[in-house]
Amino acid sequence: MKTLAAVFEEVGKRLEIEELELDPPSSGEVLVKLKATGLCRSDYHVMAGDWRSHGPLVLGHEGAGVVEAVGSGVTSLQIGDHVILSWSPACGRCLQCLVGRPALCHAIQETAYRNLMADGTTRLHRDDVDVHAFCGCGTFATHAVVAQSAAIKVAKDIPFDIAALVGCAVATGIGAVWNTAKVAPGDSVLVVGCGGVGWAAIAAARVAGAMVIVAADPNPKALEAAEEAGATHTVQIGEGDVRDEIRRITELQGVDYAFDTIGRQDAIRLGFETLRPGGSLVCVGMPKDGTQLGVDVLELIRQEKTIMGSWYGSCQPALDFPRILKANQTGMIQLSGLVGNSISLDQINAGFDLMASGTVGRTVIALD
Ligand SMILES: [Zn+2]
Ligand SMILES: [Zn+2]
Repeated sequence: MKTLAAVFEEVGKRLEIEELELDPPSSGEVLVKLKATGLCRSDYHVMAGDWRSHGPLVLGHEGAGVVEAVGSGVTSLQIGDHVILSWSPACGRCLQCLVGRPALCHAIQETAYRNLMADGTTRLHRDDVDVHAFCGCGTFATHAVVAQSAAIKVAKDIPFDIAALVGCAVATGIGAVWNTAKVAPGDSVLVVGCGGVGWAAIAAARVAGAMVIVAADPNPKALEAAEEAGATHTVQIGEGDVRDEIRRITELQGVDYAFDTIGRQDAIRLGFETLRPGGSLVCVGMPKDGTQLGVDVLELIRQEKTIMGSWYGSCQPALDFPRILKANQTGMIQLSGLVGNSISLDQINAGFDLMASGTVGRTVIALD
């Protein structure tokens, strides 16, 4: 069959909307008619050349839609099911899967994380040329064939734009707070960067009972959104001495947890240096290839600080996506507050231009 997709060819070129050939689902795979997909900074990293990737590649990894066909051996899904795509289509059998860390699955390091299906091939083609799908998803398209473990069934009354965002930004931000750090009632939290992931981390910290939630961002509009998500304090990066301000807010203690959602060395250092002794820095934001931490090791030792990475919010998608949607349904977290502009697939390049200019709220492509 045919699918209409936004294709990345090489760094510096705009995404091209074109019709591609899409194979039917193989064993253990499903065909999904995509309904909504969010624009994520990770797609932009590829387009900007921050990460080594080669085209032709259908970007997009934050999507939701409806199952339209199932391959042989698919037991967990049926035609008509509504699904959120997960970009860690784990094998379910390796050590990391067995200990509940599917995003660290051994098998997908060489497959999905190299934009290939589990059998090392691809389902997308342009004439004789194989076209890859980002993280085994490729959601900037009307249709995608994905592994059944990449399609998480959800209730049919969930709006597709909200469902899509759960698949990356929301799971990453909420999971970093609930799963990786395990923020507890009374804790103090700093979130550096208040885009989609930072917004979700703030909302999660509020639900977890954090008493002080400091949002830090250079963009005043992002700080306004952070306050709506639950930040108790905001500090504008680039205005005055941000470190001093955070120390003052925490009565000179520093924060228990700092979450960097930007992935730049200056942001990571801001988080590290404003921790209380014994506090933990959680690195969530994706940096460019080769970014170094650049923190003071004596300070790390003498103040017994901890640095941890959080990949996909340490989530188990089949467990965490429904849990997050429950929090949304009960009003504990209002994910509608994260949905920004709605655009069509052919406006995708303009959408990324908006992201680069610092728009607030997640831009979502409606694929109906
Ligand atoms: Zn993403
Ligand atoms: Zn595995």
